[in-house]
Amino acid sequence: MLEKKFIVENLQKTLCYKCGASLGEAKLVPLTNAQVAWIAHAVCPICKAESMVTITSAGSGITPVQSDLTGMEYKKFVGIKSVSYDELLDLHVALKKEPLWNLLQKKEKSLEKHRKA
Ligand SMILES: [Zn+2]
Repeated sequence: MLEKKFIVENLQKTLCYKCGASLGEAKLVPLTNAQVAWIAHAVCPICKAESMVTITSAGSGITPVQSDLTGMEYKKFVGIKSVSYDELLDLHVALKKEPLWNLLQKKEKSLEKHRKA
């Protein structure tokens, strides 16, 4: 379980990809609980650039987001209730490789397949 203090400290060290401001004061919508990793949609307090912030005990990362979705909509899309450590690691790695938007579209497709089956 990540402590709130740890998350806050890491957020302060995480800088906006666009203007370099600290995200300590960013508007955040957490997408996961902090069991093993904490992922949130963040809006920069200075330039309003949107990004996904990932904080794990191993460190933190930031991925730019460019879409029309709001933080709450992301939460709905991701819809994580309980995820395994492996799944979070996969997400963490996947976010480094491609934008979240692509992943969400893939998820939608796989959900459609599921419904038809
Ligand atoms: Zn910014």
